[in-house]
Amino acid sequence: MLNIVIFGPPGSGKGTQSCRILEKYSLTHISTGDLMREEMAQDSALGEQIRKYINKGLLVPDEIVICKLNNTIEKHTDAKGFIFDGFPRTINQAILFDDMLDLRATPIDLVISVDVAEEELLKRLAGRSEDSGRSDDKEEIIWKRIDVYKSQSLPLVSYYSQQEKLVKINGMDHVDAVFGKISLAIDTYLEKQEVLTEVR
Ligand code: AMP
Repeated sequence: MLNIVIFGPPGSGKGTQSCRILEKYSLTHISTGDLMREEMAQDSALGEQIRKYINKGLLVPDEIVICKLNNTIEKHTDAKGFIFDGFPRTINQAILFDDMLDLRATPIDLVISVDVAEEELLKRLAGRSEDSGRSDDKEEIIWKRIDVYKSQSLPLVSYYSQQEKLVKINGMDHVDAVFGKISLAIDTYLEKQEVLTEVR
């Protein structure tokens, strides 16, 4: 089992990189943003509730996100591992997530933090807003999402750094170059695990 969290501000390319990672390492991709959008697309009462937060650029309450995440993990009993994209997003979520994964004896292996400068994020998100069809890719909401990231999500960098799980990747380069660096970080981690297993 290989569990990877991909972490970064909106527009840092987490989704694109997740797709490449899951192909190369045969992982199952779970994007909590996608889970929220799927629920909204069903026009359910829960979807309506979610929409109110997303359309303001706010985080959806933990109980909704965690319930969806848990159900999705449980559906994939044959997964070789997961790439978690967009979760956790707060220290509280990270603590709950650690407990959840400890119960399954499948802890997080690596947290890949993709760093992109704010001006570049704004440029990418403004470009994306024309064809993403996402109701939260509008200028005023983009600002709010970046603010929320800085105040609520950035503290996770030190949380995972203290756990010695964090790998920082410069996300300003071309997508291929960014993927190359991510692959190197994952391969280095896997090689280390192999050596440890041999020693044991
Ligand atoms: P994303 O596709 O990851 O950019 O997520 C889109 C939106 O879904 C976010 O702006 C939040 O409103 C909501 N969302 C996604 N993941 C989470 C999470 N882990 N906690 C709370 N809200 C989330």
